[in-house]
Amino acid sequence: MEKLVQYNKEAFIRMLRRQGIRDESVLKAMATVPREKFVGINLLEFAYDDSPLPIEEGQTISQPYIVALMTGALMLKPGDRVLEVGTGSGYAAAVLAEIAAEVYTIERHQSLAHQASVRLKELKYNNVHVLCGDGTLGWPENAPYDGIVVAAGGPEAPRSLIEQLTVGGRLVIPIGPSTREQTLLRITRINNNEVEFEELGAVRFVPLIGEEGWREIEEEIKPKLKTVSIAKPAPLSDLIEKSAIHIPSIDTVDLSGLMKRIGDARVVLLGEATHGTAEFYDMRARITKELIQHKGFRFVAVEADWPDAAQIDHFVRETRMEPTEEPTFARFPTWMWANMQVLEFVKWLRNYNKQFSSPDKAVGFFGLDLYSLYSSINSVINYLEEVDPELAAIARKRYGCLTPWEADPATYGAVALTGKHKGCEQEVVEMLNTLMRKRLDYAAQDGRRFLDALSNARLVKNAEQYYRIMYEGSSESWNFRDQHMFDTLKNLLDFHGPGSRAVVWEHNSHIGDAAATEMGARGEINVGNLCRKHFGDDAYLIGFGTHHGTVAAASDWGAPMEIKIVRPSHPESYERLCHDSGLNAFMLPLVDQKQRVVKELLRPRLERAIGVIYRPETEVASHYFNASLPLQFNEYIWFDETRAVDALGPEAGIGMPETFPFGL
Ligand code: SAM
Repeated sequence: MEKLVQYNKEAFIRMLRRQGIRDESVLKAMATVPREKFVGINLLEFAYDDSPLPIEEGQTISQPYIVALMTGALMLKPGDRVLEVGTGSGYAAAVLAEIAAEVYTIERHQSLAHQASVRLKELKYNNVHVLCGDGTLGWPENAPYDGIVVAAGGPEAPRSLIEQLTVGGRLVIPIGPSTREQTLLRITRINNNEVEFEELGAVRFVPLIGEEGWREIEEEIKPKLKTVSIAKPAPLSDLIEKSAIHIPSIDTVDLSGLMKRIGDARVVLLGEATHGTAEFYDMRARITKELIQHKGFRFVAVEADWPDAAQIDHFVRETRMEPTEEPTFARFPTWMWANMQVLEFVKWLRNYNKQFSSPDKAVGFFGLDLYSLYSSINSVINYLEEVDPELAAIARKRYGCLTPWEADPATYGAVALTGKHKGCEQEVVEMLNTLMRKRLDYAAQDGRRFLDALSNARLVKNAEQYYRIMYEGSSESWNFRDQHMFDTLKNLLDFHGPGSRAVVWEHNSHIGDAAATEMGARGEINVGNLCRKHFGDDAYLIGFGTHHGTVAAASDWGAPMEIKIVRPSHPESYERLCHDSGLNAFMLPLVDQKQRVVKELLRPRLERAIGVIYRPETEVASHYFNASLPLQFNEYIWFDETRAVDALGPEAGIGMPETFPFGL
């Protein structure tokens, strides 16, 4: 359903005029093309803002002013034929099609090319022709062109494009020595051998990637180092730029250096600065695949409930699935795990696991969190029904103590605190002890299934306590929860045997060392901190961050998921330093404290944390805290502009999560 948003096109055109756009045919085209049809439904209200907006594949729809400027620079006449490189959303192609006779446009991402082509057809732009391919080579079959416009920044003007201009034809293209800065040029073909160059101003575009552009994995994509004056120290953002390892794309970035830095670590903890950013999930998946394939990591443990993750574990190892009464990942916030990014990884893992002769050797997937009190109770009872029906009846009775609070377990804690109810501690502890005593019998039948039942019984015991101490203070319950997650991780490592190795996916606030943040001052611990204490150098902690973009989050606990705009980072924050480096995406090792960049980053600064709730209106108070980045993490991974995860839950309206991950 389309949102009802009022657009003020007159104000939009006035804004373009104020910025110096004078060409009436361009202004008319800009007023005619419905920009709202080219942006995502969640960005509709920004459709006529003068800013670039995120589209799929990590790309952008260009800023309206830039589209108008470049279109004007082409000096088009009716009847002209134009080539555009970088179709993106198809918006600029539509603007060109309002003026020129025929528009040919090329996009390297298949999904974008397809979407733009469908969209332009629906809008009846029958004079636009879309091709998926490398636009740096042009589209020779339809050459020559009166104008060629390139919507991505390259190292130089591609020769193929100049050759496809008519004599007198204009090529408008951003050119720069690095992927972070360009000058917009108009190159006019004077005759068969000569061209004329004019500079139109400084601009910043996404990189032009192709045979006559930047090569995706080449070193040259890393910006060239600047000369640093000795008298005046280089700003910290410049040091970051020099020390960072550029990520040209998540799929192709060379991770061999990262693998060396991780070395023989037994646990690799991968964070996230929000619970709803696609790039964080995709990059964690990429690193995890590498750790599994090249370093034999045995399982992935995530910030999810044990019973939900167990469903994924069964799916990826193709083992027998226990019947569940509740749908998987149905509890708020569903999008944290029921999303396309996780689904892609889960499908990959299932496929990878096919090589193993037995499911016991396959790579597992587990949940560390403790919010699943009642589904864990059900899992224990279901297990016992099969292996020991008499004990199942006892379990039913003992766990029955907790039944009255199923709808809202937090009220259990409140009631227990009043002393009017004796509480259920004794029952849940006894149940766990009984299961432990039966370990030898049960584990001999099926070790994995016993692990599952025991973990659920442990979870019930800890969740019961968690809900009681919730009222003692937030630090107490926070510490208790993180201790539970750490203990679960350790139990899993023990189960998988000496030398087994684990990847952990949790929020930065759990995996970055709490002692290096203001949490430490409040006496709070976390999984990262406990891992460092226990594993020492065998724990490698990687934090993630972003400057701006979109994120999946709710406004209140239990409220519906929204796609929210992430505000540009605070001027005093680590994020702003990373943004000012000018790099789109990078890895920054933080281990070597003799290194200048690491030394300078040590002084605590603000850092942003967005959880399942994001309140941009009170951002500083709600989402920033003080931390020392190099003490918090061994390495930091940066994505300047990010986008929301593709949720599969009720938000997507496609019947998830009942079917996740098995139905797709
Ligand atoms: N004109 C677009 C619009 O109105 O939405 C915005 C284009 S976006 C700034 C740049 C686009 O160039 C991206 O979609 C990117 O994938 C594409 N691109 C980069 N290198 C390319 C190449 N060699 N050939 C074709 N497209 C390329």
